[in-house]
Amino acid sequence: MTEEDAGRASMWPTPVDDVPDLLAAYARPATLLRPTAGDPGPRDSSVGGTLLWPADEPWPVCRAPHVVGKRERLSDGDRELWQEYDRRMKARRRARTRGSSVMRAEEDEARTRIMDGASAIDLKTWERIRTVSEHPATPVPMIPVLQLHARDVPGLPLPEGADLLQLLWCPDDHAEPPGQPHYWGPNVEVRHRAAASVRTVADPPRPEHSKGVYLPRPCVLDPVRVVDLPAEDELPAELVGTAHAWADARAVAYRHLACLRGWKAGGWPSWHLTDLVPIDCACGARMRLLLTLDSGGDPKLTMGRSGELRVFSCPEDLTHPFRLNVQ
Ligand SMILES: [Zn+2]
Ligand SMILES: [Zn+2]
Repeated sequence: MTEEDAGRASMWPTPVDDVPDLLAAYARPATLLRPTAGDPGPRDSSVGGTLLWPADEPWPVCRAPHVVGKRERLSDGDRELWQEYDRRMKARRRARTRGSSVMRAEEDEARTRIMDGASAIDLKTWERIRTVSEHPATPVPMIPVLQLHARDVPGLPLPEGADLLQLLWCPDDHAEPPGQPHYWGPNVEVRHRAAASVRTVADPPRPEHSKGVYLPRPCVLDPVRVVDLPAEDELPAELVGTAHAWADARAVAYRHLACLRGWKAGGWPSWHLTDLVPIDCACGARMRLLLTLDSGGDPKLTMGRSGELRVFSCPEDLTHPFRLNVQ
């Protein structure tokens, strides 16, 4: 192992293989995908690589509304008022004057009026920036994000006859795209197919506009099978003590043995930003974690606030729509 490999390996979680019987019912197989920058081909599992996509099959496009920042110029009067209040505030700060609360209430009111519900003011161009959702003028071609061959990810849930999972997304922000409540981020599409059925590989179109944080650098994968355990919140109360005792015996906190970090197929999701959010399919089934896409590392993506984008699927029927969640 080179020094660089050793450094990289230390970023990856240590898999466990001695889960006690009591916890075994909650242990789920997972595959850590471990992407590293490379030059993957269409027949490889990859992040941001060429997809094994038939040349004669339409390339997926996004028709959902995109989040855009609309700019409106402030009137000269409003700009001057804003600047005047800025000057006054700076003067107060310098003088450390007390008892100027009456003034501040008036300023607050004026600023609220000038903002007019916009999300920001650009103080260089003196424009209001209003965040709105707008349909793109023409459908936007999606880009390849993840391709998994079943041979590299044993146990990957796939429909009958398929041995390949492909995830694409529209590399822009969408506020609650169709079927994705409480979600903000790239619009995702998941496809399945039989690798052997693809003869000529498509040369996909590229979107004209994209957000750099949603453009993955091509990576090859180095998958490793692990056992993953749930966050404490997902364990029955009577097992929490068992879980901690087992982790303590290994001189490690339970949270470091559960919800393993990084790009992952299967396993358990962590709930480190919000409380546990149960995600239920329209059929009533509690959905299960299918994929975790992580920020940073070699693909150099940023999801949410440097978080994870997770894809949940229905354990009863893979054709039921998937759900997205960012933590
Ligand atoms: Zn889109
Ligand atoms: Zn379902």
